[in-house]
Amino acid sequence: MKLILLGPVGSGKGTQAGLISERYKLPHISTGEIFRSNIKSGTELGKLAKSYIDRGELVPEDVTNNLVKNRIAEKDCIYGFILDGYPRNLAQAEFLNTITEIDLALMINLSEEKIIERLSSRRMCNKCNQPTSLAWMIDGKCEKCGGDVYIRDDDKPDVIKNRLTKQAVPQDLINYYREKGVFSSIDATDDVESTYSLVDEELKKVNNND
Ligand SMILES: [Zn+2]
Repeated sequence: MKLILLGPVGSGKGTQAGLISERYKLPHISTGEIFRSNIKSGTELGKLAKSYIDRGELVPEDVTNNLVKNRIAEKDCIYGFILDGYPRNLAQAEFLNTITEIDLALMINLSEEKIIERLSSRRMCNKCNQPTSLAWMIDGKCEKCGGDVYIRDDDKPDVIKNRLTKQAVPQDLINYYREKGVFSSIDATDDVESTYSLVDEELKKVNNND
């Protein structure tokens, strides 16, 4: 099963990708992970990507495309994969279409209000450097070590709104997969497992078609 997960930041897409990966034994591939592993192992593309990242520039599209191409050609992708964070736009989707055929592009929706609520309840612990949340903290302190917590700049409401606008899933990307008949979307709930059961229903539809 070749799967793409789409969705806004804070929709819980990464968490769902992790669960699908575990339960369907498919590699969870994010562009962040591909960059890190190629930089670590010192591949030519990794070095090239690093040169842009080090200058604070965006990695050019063709470098990202080729990194993804190499990644999904690896042995662990023989029965499929879950792409998370790629393709980001129509051009990348068209490139991907030249190397493989996608079974499902699944969008995980969550309202802007909910995303802001979710992300703005995140906190970081000063002491153990682990993420926590207003819901988990005990007496205003980290539930793990009792340390003081702070809000990451990325989790401040204004910054979240800005990220949501900038990183929204482009409509033409959605239309592209809709026209191919492989697009589907679900509304995330507050609960990881109940969201997963909605995801799983969509995955089962794909498996039954095979
Ligand atoms: Zn702590």
